[in-house]
Amino acid sequence: QEGLAYHGIVEDCCCDYETVDLINVEVLHPLLQQIVKYPFFRYFKVKLWCDCPFWPDDGMCRLRDCSVCECPENEFPETFRKPSGKGLSSDDLVCQEGKPEAAVDRTIDAKAFKGWVEVDNPWTNDDETDNAEMTYINLQLNPERYTGYTGPSARRIWDAIYLENCQKYPSEECQEKRILYKLISGLHSSISIHIAADYLLDEKSNRWGQNLSLMYERVLKYPDRVRNLYFTFLFVLRSVTKAADYLEQADYDTGNSLEDLNTQLLMKKLLHDHKLRAACPKPFDEAKLWKGQSGPELMKQTQKQFRNISALMDCVGCEKCRLWGKLQVLGLGTALKILFSDNGHELSPDNLQLQRNEVIALINLLNRLSESVKLVHEMGPSVERIYGKIIGGP
Ligand code: FAD
Repeated sequence: QEGLAYHGIVEDCCCDYETVDLINVEVLHPLLQQIVKYPFFRYFKVKLWCDCPFWPDDGMCRLRDCSVCECPENEFPETFRKPSGKGLSSDDLVCQEGKPEAAVDRTIDAKAFKGWVEVDNPWTNDDETDNAEMTYINLQLNPERYTGYTGPSARRIWDAIYLENCQKYPSEECQEKRILYKLISGLHSSISIHIAADYLLDEKSNRWGQNLSLMYERVLKYPDRVRNLYFTFLFVLRSVTKAADYLEQADYDTGNSLEDLNTQLLMKKLLHDHKLRAACPKPFDEAKLWKGQSGPELMKQTQKQFRNISALMDCVGCEKCRLWGKLQVLGLGTALKILFSDNGHELSPDNLQLQRNEVIALINLLNRLSESVKLVHEMGPSVERIYGKIIGGP
């Protein structure tokens, strides 16, 4: 990448930047964009209450753009629906963004998870079996973008994540300790890229568009933030390819036979694409980690830190940010669960068990990272040229 500070092999990974850009543009991005629109991947089950265990004073975000549009019941796939006669009547359902087609339904049906086991994920904090408090959100109605969430509340979350739970450890050579920092930093870069790519440019006229100077200021100006984005992308991609057998046979039933069949076929394509397999056979080598005597202890510590980060998502004071924060942290937790078990050994694909929600989070996270990598690849060099001169480097 001419002019950019990243080239060669992605640090701690097994593929170079050029190859990642190529497989992303030609294979991953087009496939993922289709997959996430199908019913199975469109609905995410989440507890959206602002239930912060750390700072009880932090209230809900009051900004209009922070609200999440929830799904009216008739929009759920048949197998996702609650039994009739329970829950709110349609008169009670008022969409928070004022769109009548996106009214709120906070009840769910355990049947929606038929064929999927409810197993604990040692990397995350949310209890997925806590059904009474959870609701389905149509992700397509709630794109990750600028919400106006900023200031001390947002800063407090990021500070807590970085300072308390995944410091950079600049003086240590320990790869395991760096991994968590890099994963979070890569996710943070991706969130910032999405904010800049879909920004409220003019509040009066409600004009949305790209804010390239923000993209430069928050991410492109810092080569390590770009590098961490690519690292996180490859890490999550590796977990998906490692779980390929499981994901290929998973139950994508939502009651829409044609759409479900397409979901299955597209997943198969994604998991076994020849170009992808040949260009980057093993995007990340997890077998190198947690070796040696201190391996199991390090793994335990890292798991605890990640669970804290997962719990911090309940403190995000803006609903839509909380939705995407929770989804993406669950996606990362699922990637960690696929690549590492809690006792220092790799989890074999034979004894892997994932919840429906974990699969949804994992694939939607991969899609978000893929979008960010594509944006950086396409816009990076010109944004760097223009704003690097105007604003100056770090
Ligand atoms: P911030 O992005 O808040 O960064 C804080 C500090 O972290 C920076 O000063 C820097 O020191 C460090 N930092 C920044 N980026 C990186 C990186 N990639 N790697 C390492 N360190 C870094 N806002 C929205 O508009 N839409 C959203 O969907 C949204 N989702 C969010 C989800 C979560 C979980 C959180 C915590 C916040 C979210 N926000 C969202 C808020 C957004 O991330 C910023 O906090 C906000 O825009 C203010 O930005 P800032 O310039 O103060 O820097």
